Amino acid sequence: MKSIVTFVVASLFAAGVAFAAAETSKPGKCCAAAAKEGKKCEHKCCVEAAKAGDNCTKCGGAGKIAKPAK
Ligand SMILES: [Zn+2]
Ligand SMILES: [Zn+2]
Repeated sequence: MKSIVTFVVASLFAAGVAFAAAETSKPGKCCAAAAKEGKKCEHKCCVEAAKAGDNCTKCGGAGKIAKPAK
């Protein structure tokens, strides 16, 4: 019984972490539009941010760039 409770709590926690990560990683509007067309945003500020692995905060992005799962 105790192990079931532990499992439920652990999975809820994992889901919460995944949700939080998804919420704090957001590309800028221009970057999202470029990505939709299979391109990379060419704004200097976005390119600089991307080099550091971040989304461009100047263009409304936030957090780290989400790496596509292989
Ligand atoms: Zn951009
Ligand atoms: Zn930018």
